[in-house]
Amino acid sequence: EVVPERAAKPVDEKPFGVTISHPERVVFPASGTTKGELATYYAQVAEPMLTWLGNRPVSLVRCPQGRGKHCFFQKHDGGNFGGKVGSVAIREKDGGSEDYLVVDSGEAIVTCVQMGTIEFHGWGAPADDVEHPDRMVFDLDPDEGLGFDAVRKAAVQLKDLLGELGLVSFAMASGGKGVHVVVPLDQSRDWVAVKDFADRFSRAVAQAHPDRFTANMRKSERKGRIFLDWLRNQRGSTAVLPYSVRAREAATVAVPITWEELDTLETAHPYTVADVAVLFERAAGRELAGWGVADQALPDL
Ligand code: ATP
Ligand code: MN
Ligand code: MN
Repeated sequence: EVVPERAAKPVDEKPFGVTISHPERVVFPASGTTKGELATYYAQVAEPMLTWLGNRPVSLVRCPQGRGKHCFFQKHDGGNFGGKVGSVAIREKDGGSEDYLVVDSGEAIVTCVQMGTIEFHGWGAPADDVEHPDRMVFDLDPDEGLGFDAVRKAAVQLKDLLGELGLVSFAMASGGKGVHVVVPLDQSRDWVAVKDFADRFSRAVAQAHPDRFTANMRKSERKGRIFLDWLRNQRGSTAVLPYSVRAREAATVAVPITWEELDTLETAHPYTVADVAVLFERAAGRELAGWGVADQALPDL
């Protein structure tokens, strides 16, 4: 029997040629994870991660002083990445346009880490056609105190309900408290159509199963239930991307999982940066082959 290697490989000196300043600086105090280890993690998952991250407008969660200190969400390209990170101009509501970040190489990923990035979040549409979503995401946000058992059941129920509409979906453990149910789309519809579908579908689910779901984001509505967060499906919204580290206490990671695997999970954060070797092998393995891929049109609802 092969015992999986749980420890991260040694810290790369210059991952993808990027010099990491202060690699010894602790980013996650609880686990002692350093900036160098974080850069090494991202360098080692860069290849599978780029499948989801590359060619997509991206927002970063940057925490230059480490997690738990001041963090901020960076949506726009402020020109502070020395030309190593790409960008795409996107039309704004007011008629102008803004440059959004596109992180499309290992060098770009590690450059973001060098700049204090912990999390990578992506639009639901590719950078080369931002008006046509290639995925819809239902972000299951459980009420505080609700066990993961309830989240697991809710995610499977959602998958079944989407299946009744002819839609194939995939699960991702967020690395936090919930599960994201991801529905790949063929880009035949625009944001208005996708948001409208997500809105109406979520309301219908909440109405049919009020014991389990609410489609209302108000915390007071959540009592013992799961907020079916469909608001990730508006133009300009993001969701955390596969293999992004989370700026949470234990350096946990958002990770694609199979529906069979979900049955066996006890939390939404089964892996941390220390599991990079396992994550890389999983990503290349047979079980996750085809995860997140389905050429399907949004049905009428
Ligand atoms: P959890 O499973 O713990 O809920 P999560 O990633 O789903 O983890 P949420 O708070 O539900 O966390 O947020 C869902 C998504 O909304 C995030 O992945 C992120 O892309 C986006 N988001 C959250 N906070 C912000 C913010 N302050 N600004 C912009 N987008 C945000
Ligand atoms: Mn969530
Ligand atoms: Mn949410």
